[in-house]
Amino acid sequence: MAKAITLLESTRADHRAQADALLTALLPHAGRSFRLGISGVPGVGKSTFIEALGLHLIGQGHRVAVLTIDPSSTVSGGSILGDKTRMEKLSVNERAYIRPSPSSGTLGGVAEKTREAMLVCEAAGYDVVIVETVGVGQSETAVAGMTDMFVLMQLPNAGDDLQAIKKGVMELADLVVINKADLDADAATRAQAQITSALRLFGLHGHPSHAHHDETIWHPQVIQLSALHGVGVDAFWLAVTQFRQLQTGNGRLDARRQHQALAWMWERIDAGLKQAFRQDPRVRELLPLLTAEVSQGRMAASTAARNLLEVQAQRT
Ligand code: GDP
Repeated sequence: MAKAITLLESTRADHRAQADALLTALLPHAGRSFRLGISGVPGVGKSTFIEALGLHLIGQGHRVAVLTIDPSSTVSGGSILGDKTRMEKLSVNERAYIRPSPSSGTLGGVAEKTREAMLVCEAAGYDVVIVETVGVGQSETAVAGMTDMFVLMQLPNAGDDLQAIKKGVMELADLVVINKADLDADAATRAQAQITSALRLFGLHGHPSHAHHDETIWHPQVIQLSALHGVGVDAFWLAVTQFRQLQTGNGRLDARRQHQALAWMWERIDAGLKQAFRQDPRVRELLPLLTAEVSQGRMAASTAARNLLEVQAQRT
């Protein structure tokens, strides 16, 4: 698995052809896992929780893979998530596979590698794949875009400052976990109530016709948890199981995966076109001149863009 994932992560052109052949061979064996995305700020308890959940699932006979997207490593080369020993017990368990974040490239590139690594894990028989990220930048959108269920972890004081929770991210959440409920039970209960009503509002805006409770679709839930003491882990998995059953029954799980695969294809096409454009010799030749013209106000930005695009189009 490590060799396969390393091949998929390689940026060498000759490796890419091998990697594509590998993906094509893997694909019929992939897709049978449940893909769970988990996000939260550093310190919220992600690795503590994933370790507790992973061991719980292994106890039930599952095989668990954990992949990580660390947006900080794409900027600084350093890592928020990688520099301490995380998930000590899970990492040595033979029914678990843990892979740290690819440490270079754009977020889109790193997300692509993770998406492909997920297929390797599935083909290798891991039936729960957890993709973890920190609550920074666009990485949460990337993770929500490659998983069946997206979980947002919050601290017990989260409800005191709902403004601080990015609305866009909250809207991605299928489940919100208030972790460290052991530290302040009152605050955790308050946060649970506040976030529950905030989610209900998003729900109403999203689906006005579902103003009354529709049992056939999933309504995002908020649960309390203490990852450190392992309290609430079974309730968490119960909620995940309910989500999975409901979304399988109403067809939304398949629809979500189809939508994700096509969105991914277009995302990669856009990225590839952009790269081809930037690498085009005639574009590169013309770019310094037009950059100067636009910066100094002698040419409209849109005119310069059109000229550059035409130069590339003529070439191909
Ligand atoms: P991450 O950065 O999100 O992966 O957070 P960690 O899992 O490394 O946890 C950060 C700190 O919070 C560690 O010292 C954990 O022991 C502690 N922690 C995690 N979960 C809980 C919890 O449920 N209750 C309490 N009291 N502490 C916790």
